[in-house]
Amino acid sequence: MTDRKPARTTTRRTPRLLVAGLLVVIAAIAAALGYQSLASSSSTAAPPIDVVRSDHRGALGEADGAVPDGTTVFDDEIPGVANLDPDLLGALRRAATDAAGDGVELFVDSGWRSPEYQEQLLHEAVSKYGSEAEAARWVATADTSAHVSGDAVDIGPFDATAWLSEHGAGYGLCQTYSNEPWHYELRPEAIDHGCPPMYADPTHDPRMRQ
Ligand SMILES: [Zn+2]
Repeated sequence: MTDRKPARTTTRRTPRLLVAGLLVVIAAIAAALGYQSLASSSSTAAPPIDVVRSDHRGALGEADGAVPDGTTVFDDEIPGVANLDPDLLGALRRAATDAAGDGVELFVDSGWRSPEYQEQLLHEAVSKYGSEAEAARWVATADTSAHVSGDAVDIGPFDATAWLSEHGAGYGLCQTYSNEPWHYELRPEAIDHGCPPMYADPTHDPRMRQ
């Protein structure tokens, strides 16, 4: 064993530099991948096309309902929040305050959207899913979307939707679609009677057939 030592130091000198360089590259790749997976899996394992992601935010701005990272239900100056139905917003703020008491912070991934913004999301969904029929399972039209009327909000990250799924009914906040655990709407009757059954996805929602 000991007689190999000199050989080791000489052969390792150059590789060490290479190894150090490789480690830097690997760390950079890992950081990029880690960031991507964090960004894309913040709410659920299901594909969150309904949620407006950062790479979509360039085309239409905050005035159309795009929300910056870290937006909360208390951010009055952001149109995506300010243009929500006042009753929905009130319920969200009561829930967010109580969730904070449990150490959970609610973030708004998407709230009110302009019709133009909704159409853009729908076009993106059609190209992503390959057909209008499949896209309709995830994104409504501007005429039917509860986001456009200010009656829906997409909440993240996972611990926030988990908190809402347990406590939301007490505030009249109900998950509407089984395939969108982040999408909440106001159902005042839920405070006394619990949330109504969810639709499997938006294509089962009679409001989406117009
Ligand atoms: Zn939604």
